[in-house]
Amino acid sequence: MITIQNGTLLYGKNLLPMGKNLFIQDHEIVEISECQARGKVIDAKGCLVAPALVNSHIHLGDSVARDVGDGEPLDKIVKPPDGIKHRILRETPREDLIRSMKDSLQDMVQCGITTFLDFREGGVDGVEILREALEDIHVRGLILGRQDSFLDKNADKSKIVSDAQEILKITHGIGLSGFGEIDDETARNIARECLKEGKIPAIHVAENEKVQQQSKELTGKTEVERALEAGFKLLVHLTSASTSDLEKLSKQELSVVCCPRANGALSTGIPPIKTMWDLGINLLLGTDNVMINSPNMFSEMEYALKVTRGLTQKYFAPVEILKMATVNVGKAIGLNLGSLEEGYLADIMIVEQISRDPILSLINRTQSKNIIGVITDGKILYQR
Ligand SMILES: [Zn+2]
Repeated sequence: MITIQNGTLLYGKNLLPMGKNLFIQDHEIVEISECQARGKVIDAKGCLVAPALVNSHIHLGDSVARDVGDGEPLDKIVKPPDGIKHRILRETPREDLIRSMKDSLQDMVQCGITTFLDFREGGVDGVEILREALEDIHVRGLILGRQDSFLDKNADKSKIVSDAQEILKITHGIGLSGFGEIDDETARNIARECLKEGKIPAIHVAENEKVQQQSKELTGKTEVERALEAGFKLLVHLTSASTSDLEKLSKQELSVVCCPRANGALSTGIPPIKTMWDLGINLLLGTDNVMINSPNMFSEMEYALKVTRGLTQKYFAPVEILKMATVNVGKAIGLNLGSLEEGYLADIMIVEQISRDPILSLINRTQSKNIIGVITDGKILYQR
């Protein structure tokens, strides 16, 4: 049993600040109350006790190519199979790839992240490389893999299906680069195989105006419409989604990952976070390619909040941004995760409270040096 006492707890799905003690047994939060401390005691006086952060979209493989390709067009940087990043990934020795991934994983842990969803290139071998990098680092990595055959326009349906089944045996789902590289039938087959296995079918969509336009010219449909028809449940970006796209999307059970810093860095736009929130869409947040961004969710939250207010010239509540990095995630991945309540996984960060507003203290002020402890799956990852 672990007790975290004397802190300000951000309780439940609405992250309500309250002065209670939190009790952990095995992997779970078992009690939140004013009862006396039991077992190992962590004193959180002057601190916020918050759900640990989730980075819902990252390409850890790019850790080897930090800040490469700045200023080049998006296609030239990230489009498979010959974008700059894919060339670098092919040319880098396995040990170097693993070492750079480990660096990024450590960066995430130091920034209060205990769960991440990675879009992993390179087929089965690519997944194994990330698993190796994760071996001695206790974070929850949800790997969304892909096979090279998905990009082969001549591959027949049975090959796509069997390759999808192969990768799903070792992943939490499949993460596709986008409709620029695959056709609708392939997309449908892949999404169907994921859902059959109870896993996550994910894809980048509407990252910029150009891809939306190309999709309409080629098929008469937007990328968002095609993703919905194919059955994807996790859509990444939506930077250039139309109003009608968003309305259609809001009627389905799925989640959207916004990556505003990556969109800003690549000059592709700013995701319509407030519009999607108004429509009731379940929103998550991710730092995207490590080649463009540090995997720091505090930076992502601060940027997301301020750019949303700047873009809409309207107030947007900070707590909704913090939910994107915590409580909204459980629903998207089917785990009791991201909320401090009984029966949820004990993934918790204990952070010095720097300003009077607990939510803004996290979003505007917190740096890794302010995190005094991180717990994942009920185990203390570190304590300062
Ligand atoms: Zn991405």
